[in-house]
Amino acid sequence: MKPAPFAYYRPDTVQEAVACLSAQPGDARVLAGGQSLLPLMHQRSARQAALVDLGGIAGLCHISIDTDGLRIGAMARHVDIERVRDPQVRANFGVLPESAGLIGHLPIRTRGTFGGSLAHADPRAEWCLLAVLLDAEVVVHGSVGERVLDAPTFFTGPHRTRLGPDEIVVAARFRHPAPTAVLTEFAVQHGAFPEVAVAAAIGLGVQGRIAAARVALGGVAGRPIRVPDVEVALLGELPRAKLFDHAGLLAADAVAPLVEGDQSYRLELTAALTAKAVRDSVSRTGRQPGDAKSEEEGGRS
Ligand SMILES: Cc1cc2nc3c(=O)[nH]c(=O)nc-3n(C[C@H](O)[C@H](O)[C@H](O)COP(=O)(O)OP(=O)(O)OC[C@H]3O[C@@H](n4cnc5c(N)ncnc54)[C@H](O)[C@@H]3O)c2cc1C
Repeated sequence: MKPAPFAYYRPDTVQEAVACLSAQPGDARVLAGGQSLLPLMHQRSARQAALVDLGGIAGLCHISIDTDGLRIGAMARHVDIERVRDPQVRANFGVLPESAGLIGHLPIRTRGTFGGSLAHADPRAEWCLLAVLLDAEVVVHGSVGERVLDAPTFFTGPHRTRLGPDEIVVAARFRHPAPTAVLTEFAVQHGAFPEVAVAAAIGLGVQGRIAAARVALGGVAGRPIRVPDVEVALLGELPRAKLFDHAGLLAADAVAPLVEGDQSYRLELTAALTAKAVRDSVSRTGRQPGDAKSEEEGGRS
């Protein structure tokens, strides 16, 4: 099937793009990589009177790091992030290039964009999950000017965000380095969206106890969510296999009310993937989880 007829605009600046959207409130939609929007239009699940293609706007493809953290332009493609070589990005935000390789197939990663993924807000999407895990800021432009929205509140439900009808995502900023962050997921086949994805960032403090813990889940709710019960349970503990399994069970308990009957396999995935993500993140601290075993036997249970 072919899409219903639509007008096509290719502005040179963000301001022009915003003006195109403002001129046709609700009828015009942004086109980025087209990897989610175009299939919907081909199926006629989405009908747009006009598309505003961001591909002609210079300055939206950057991936840059400085003292304010990492900034990724909305039109940076998944493959640009996957192939980033900057040692500072690799050392502090290595989870981003690593996770890019999990998105779809190479042709999808070659066209699909970072900002498109955030705006599309699929609850299973890797970028949305990492934006929530790492408290990213989503920078948007609209007719009222620039707004900066925190990722955890930017996503409001499946394919829903706080973006206004004439607003465009221009970038995301990751202010806090996360050298130990990991993302692990299960997909039924290579290149498919994950059924469940879990991201974790663990930091160790004195005597190797967990001093910082962030755990976020994708695919179990309408938007990616942090799991405070798990994070609190990890704090102050020595990393060890029993603790990781406990974290997994707590994560599954936390999301159980959100998961419907025939989706209960998601709870098992949540438990297993959370245990793995926490263990893998601990490994990134330079400490092998097993290192703590002897301390644990002589310490608290
Ligand atoms: C077979 C297949 C497998 C896939 N697997 C995965 C996967 O495993 N993980 C994953 O995360 N994604 C996956 N995707 C989706 C892919 O990552 C898309 O690239 C992404 O979701 C949307 O990015 P895009 O640039 O293609 O956006 P588009 O398709 O162009 O746009 C998507 C939506 O976002 C809006 N939009 C786009 N950019 C902006 C912007 N800057 N500001 C405001 N609104 C904007 C559009 O108006 C539209 O509503 C898959 C897609 C396919 C077809």
